[in-house]
Amino acid sequence: MDRPAEQVLQWAVATFAQRFAIVTSFQKEGTILIDMAARLGLAPRVVTIDTGRLPAETLRMIDSVEARYGLPVDVLRPAESEVETMVTRFGSELFRESVAQRKLCCQVRKVRTLDRFLPEVDAYAVGLRRGQSESRENVEQIDGAKISPLAAWNASDVEEYLVKHNVPVHPLYAQGYTTIGCAPCSRAVRDGEQLRAGRWWWEVEGDKECGLHFSPEGKMERTVDVLLRDVIGTNA
Ligand code: SF4
Repeated sequence: MDRPAEQVLQWAVATFAQRFAIVTSFQKEGTILIDMAARLGLAPRVVTIDTGRLPAETLRMIDSVEARYGLPVDVLRPAESEVETMVTRFGSELFRESVAQRKLCCQVRKVRTLDRFLPEVDAYAVGLRRGQSESRENVEQIDGAKISPLAAWNASDVEEYLVKHNVPVHPLYAQGYTTIGCAPCSRAVRDGEQLRAGRWWWEVEGDKECGLHFSPEGKMERTVDVLLRDVIGTNA
């Protein structure tokens, strides 16, 4: 059974101490976790991934959050050599070519970057909610090392918290975005579209996931692995 988000966060910090972090891309839910921790008097490590393709507004959010909460945000970056090899081999806009190439880009810029960081912690919190999309409807509040305190929250819970506590909100929401990732792969949603429709909108078959939270399956996984080996060698 789900527990209140505050209780989960408190437990995680008490249990894992310095080996716990909030990993966020400064979407509403991630910023709520930071605010909640501050409100509870907790000071967990806050970590974000700068993929090299983030919108300027996200980079400015890092400064806003640091100033508001008086904490440093650790910025993780992909391995330069991997990005360089990938871009040389497939081009900087490779993600438009196929779902597999898009997932390759997400692997190199996001997933592998997070994977290199994870040995530094025993647990980390993210802002996943079951209501965000079909692929997230089975998210557990505690799933191994990954903790999603807001798993059971709905969109109204999020909005209510933001207003009540005057939490800094990523400026792209005001332009109609409902989910925010890299600049070339995120856009505002249109009336009637689903919450994650603004991610990789040109894909007909993509699952709207980058691989940070859910791995590609079956044939797609093998295709991405082959491309990845091309970029980083045989150890992928
Ligand atoms: S969201 Fe787009 S630019 Fe960012 S890592 Fe994934 S494919 Fe690459």
